[in-house]
Amino acid sequence: MSVVAATELLALLGEATRILHATLPLEQRIQRLFELLRPVVHFRDARLICWLQGAQPKTERQQFYSADGWPYPWDDSLSRRVALDGALVLRQIAVSNPAAAGEHLPVVQAAYLGAPIRWDRRLWGLLELRAETRSTLEGTSRELVAALLPQLAVAIAQAGQSLPPAPIGASDGATPTGLTLAPPRLQHLLELEARLETMLNLPELLSLLLRQALAATGAEAGAVLLVDQSAGELLLHTAEGLPATPWHGLEAQQHKRFSWDHGLAGQAARMKRALLVRDVTLQPELAPGGTGARAGLAAPIVIHERVVAVMLLSSSRSNAFGDQELAFMRALCDRAALPLSRTLHYQDALESANYLGQVFNNLPTGLALLDTNGKVVRVNPAWTSIWGIKVPQRRDAFHVGLDLIEVMLPRLTEPLAVTEFCRKGQRLPSETLVLRVRLINPVQDLHILSVPTRDSQKRISGRLWVVTDVTREGEADRLKNEFVSIVSHELRTPLTSILGYTELLLSREFQPEERIQFIKTVYDEAERLSKLVEDLLSVSRIEAGRLKLNRWLNSLNSIVNELSTQLNTQLVVHRLLLDVTPNLPPVSIDRDKIKQVIFNLLNNAIKYSPKGGEITLEMLIATPTQLPPEHPPGRWIRVAIHDQGMGIAPDDLPRIWERFYRVDNTNTRRIGGTGLGLSITKAIVELHGGQIWAESELGQGSSFFFSLPMANVEKDTEMRK
Ligand code: ADP
Repeated sequence: MSVVAATELLALLGEATRILHATLPLEQRIQRLFELLRPVVHFRDARLICWLQGAQPKTERQQFYSADGWPYPWDDSLSRRVALDGALVLRQIAVSNPAAAGEHLPVVQAAYLGAPIRWDRRLWGLLELRAETRSTLEGTSRELVAALLPQLAVAIAQAGQSLPPAPIGASDGATPTGLTLAPPRLQHLLELEARLETMLNLPELLSLLLRQALAATGAEAGAVLLVDQSAGELLLHTAEGLPATPWHGLEAQQHKRFSWDHGLAGQAARMKRALLVRDVTLQPELAPGGTGARAGLAAPIVIHERVVAVMLLSSSRSNAFGDQELAFMRALCDRAALPLSRTLHYQDALESANYLGQVFNNLPTGLALLDTNGKVVRVNPAWTSIWGIKVPQRRDAFHVGLDLIEVMLPRLTEPLAVTEFCRKGQRLPSETLVLRVRLINPVQDLHILSVPTRDSQKRISGRLWVVTDVTREGEADRLKNEFVSIVSHELRTPLTSILGYTELLLSREFQPEERIQFIKTVYDEAERLSKLVEDLLSVSRIEAGRLKLNRWLNSLNSIVNELSTQLNTQLVVHRLLLDVTPNLPPVSIDRDKIKQVIFNLLNNAIKYSPKGGEITLEMLIATPTQLPPEHPPGRWIRVAIHDQGMGIAPDDLPRIWERFYRVDNTNTRRIGGTGLGLSITKAIVELHGGQIWAESELGQGSSFFFSLPMANVEKDTEMRK
């Protein structure tokens, strides 16, 4: 305020003091005061309510209005609130004429300033001003009004002295509205208000409110219930001193929902009004919480016309609560509304941040939030695991365009594409971009989606990288293509032979030897087809988890005998050597399936050593050094098939177990096959609880091994019984 303005204000106050202490009836003095203030404060109209207290214990309420008042009635509930709060109130209001009035006036936005005239712990009256805009009543106007209040109190006190004596037996001079609060309670409210301002924690806020309510009203028990207005339900949040029922075992009851159709709290919530039950025996339907409660008080906390909570107090004493307590609880709930609304919003924000955080952290898709410079703001665990890297603690120091590319450089097949992708993201900040990246060692295909992110003002705040590992999808594609090409080739070749030879046989007569030769070829090719169909069925059973074993105690030695007899007839350029420990302990196996495994491996050994050589079938009780380092401990039989064939290159070796995987070179192409045998073999061995592995050197031959657990004879025989 400027010096001039301050001097003017002081002069005005001097003038107001002179008017208020003039020897005129109070009404005239107030009118003059209003006239003095109007050109300075620019209010639209004003009202003074006062309670004149005479020498006798009697109080008289008088009201004075400024001239040229607005046609809208004054809102007495606002006045009551000012009286109750005991503090200056400045707020935006909507004024309208009551429906009963003849002419209808539009609803008008206005400002209201209400000031309680307090002196010597008493409320003497209220000075109220209304104006068209809030700014009119702010600042100097407000200060002026505040400065006038002591003068007004003195004027009202003096006017009371001149009241005529009251008739004998008039009632005690309790405050005229019944709404003034005793100073200690007011003190409670003022202190509370200051503390509520800074609170953001819901449980703390509610228990503070409850404790204040209990302390100020003398209630023995109380609770705060949150209200779900749309469901018509109450949710017990905080309770203190409540005896057993109906909220027995508060822990279990906490966050339990109650219908608001019953009880005092429910009714207060439904009616959006504070309710008082002086004696529950007279209104049993409104029993407050707790056994033995005689009196109850429930007050709703209302935010923008919505009830969000109800405070409930109870006492074992009937008439424990009266108008004073009711007024206090109303004032308390009123003051709690704003802080509670703020806390609920804060809690909501926390909840959703927490929820989103969980979603972010647990998504299997890699997510990275970047700022506009491409620096990492936040990443989820999937992001680091997909790239297989560690992001430093100080994430803002990690830049996708520089650091990520540098770390990933040894694995990126096209680093320049990634660099360009990052650059493009900065050049076109509002574009959504997509990139497919291939990593090597091991091979991994990634799909990167880079979408712009925006802040609450819709300004671009950076990018979100959504990284998905699509290796499996790529693999599925590859499998599908290989399946189609291999199967169609493997089908076509035998079919062509079968059709060719049968056609030949039908065309004319052949010598018996020739005929037998043709029919044998047709038979072999049909068998090849049947094996293909069988393999495909096995693969689909394995995939669906439907490959079942029919296990019995068996001797591997007897299987070897059967197989060698069967194979020896086929061997021309190869020699089959057997290195089998005699009388091997029994194993619990599906005999046919294990025969199929050994047969497959021997067949491959023959197939992939076209120049011939030795093929050794070896079986022994394995010592730990004869098993791979990561092999589980126990008693194992190891079966091995060694050949001196073409061998397998180190890059291919880990992949030969994949479905449809065939080492691709001129030799293998000529030999033919589906790439299914080893994958089926592996599945069968693993179903038996064993492991399969291979060692090989290109051009030097290969060794295939698998292990089978030795049977626990007693237990396995027991199971068979
Ligand atoms: P297929 O023999 O029908 O192609 P398999 O699943 O049995 O399918 O074998 C997969 C691949 O592993 C073969 O294509 C071959 O390249 C390689 N392979 C298997 N066994 C041997 C072996 N004993 N020596 C060299 N390569 C082999």
